[in-house]
Amino acid sequence: MPFATLGLSPALVHAAAQAGFATPTPIQAEAIPAVLQGCDLLGAAQTGSGKTAAFALPLLHQLQLSAAGGPRRVRALVLVPTRELAAQVGEVLRSLAQHLPSPPKVAVVFGGVSINPQMLGLRGGADIVVATPGRLLDLAERNAVRLSAVAHLVLDEADRLLDLGFSEELARVLALLPKRRQNLFFSATFPPAVQALADGLLKQPVRVEVPQTAGNEPAIEQRAIAVDAARRTQLLRHLVKEYGWSRVLVFVATQYAAEHVAEKLYKAGIYATPFHGGLSQGARNQVLQEFKDERWQVVVTTDLAARGIDIAQLPAVVNYDLPRSAVDYVHRIGRTGRAGESGIAVSFVTPDAEAHFRLIEKRQHLSLPREHIAGFEPAEDPAVALPTGPQGTGGIKGKRPSKKDKLRAAAAQAAAASASAPKKGL
Ligand code: AMP
Repeated sequence: MPFATLGLSPALVHAAAQAGFATPTPIQAEAIPAVLQGCDLLGAAQTGSGKTAAFALPLLHQLQLSAAGGPRRVRALVLVPTRELAAQVGEVLRSLAQHLPSPPKVAVVFGGVSINPQMLGLRGGADIVVATPGRLLDLAERNAVRLSAVAHLVLDEADRLLDLGFSEELARVLALLPKRRQNLFFSATFPPAVQALADGLLKQPVRVEVPQTAGNEPAIEQRAIAVDAARRTQLLRHLVKEYGWSRVLVFVATQYAAEHVAEKLYKAGIYATPFHGGLSQGARNQVLQEFKDERWQVVVTTDLAARGIDIAQLPAVVNYDLPRSAVDYVHRIGRTGRAGESGIAVSFVTPDAEAHFRLIEKRQHLSLPREHIAGFEPAEDPAVALPTGPQGTGGIKGKRPSKKDKLRAAAAQAAAASASAPKKGL
């Protein structure tokens, strides 16, 4: 189904083509006609599904139709959980709007940076505001923005908004909006608090759900490599060189590790840089832009970059440290293989983290064989040493121990037996 059949103006169909969108993604095909009709929308969709354009295109269409003379008033408000997502959504709106006969003015505001330039940017009004809730309230309190003409509200990544503790700010923003308006609600997950928020906000919404099925699942090749903790940086260097990845996002557990690993890679001649919440907003924006421009080959980050960030054609993600939860795992690996492109997600599984990774696999209904890379085999591999008899965990599906593995397991068992024997006599 081409974009031209969805009811968008020719200028916006052209804008979609200019953005490189040949056909609508499933969520776009369903959401765009409904939003054009003025319906409320409940979208159950992840980042990567094309949800930004699913609301941006019909919003731009409606704003063109309702454009009137006189002072600019904020007619569409997009609330997002993070600064990065705000910047990204603003960029999508501006780029899709650039071919319109009278492009709307898009203002993007978020906390963590000086408020003054944002106040200046809002001088003379704006047609669309993309905002994190806290900063928007600050601006409203300073009379830099008025929300009394908002006709379209988008809540993007509503689950994340609540996760980050924005519910009170959200309620205060909602109280500033006119009662009559269109509400578009997007969330990847629907725990009770998110569902309650949706129920309170939406009137007879059209529901658009994009289940992750074989057809729309991004082609992400998932791999798990068994390695000792102390060899991970060397293994990472080896993989970056071996596969010639143009860009890699590497996830670690702490800001310190992000700095440390990036520095080690850099010293080894790989263009690597850290990205984490300890950097100033200016520095974070710069790293993201430079990564997009392919000036960095490796960005080493905490979970800060796990959600919301879209870097087209990111070929690889590496879990240097494993994520805390299966949900974080999904978000991390979702940074690659976006919009139908293929990607690779590699997890380093150290002996200590083996049990934790099994839990993630269980939650994800995954069973990845533990790979051994020549020269980086772990000294002690619990995947092999664990008993495989009826009382054992059954080992890992898909991984048949090699002769060498079996010998190693037997040696480990013998060592364990001899280590425990004298203790009995103590
Ligand atoms: P989103 O889910 O909005 O974060 O979008 C994820 C990625 O999909 C972005 O890189 C978009 O540029 C891309 N995208 C959105 N719609 C389409 C489409 N119809 N065809 C191809 N790529 C798309």
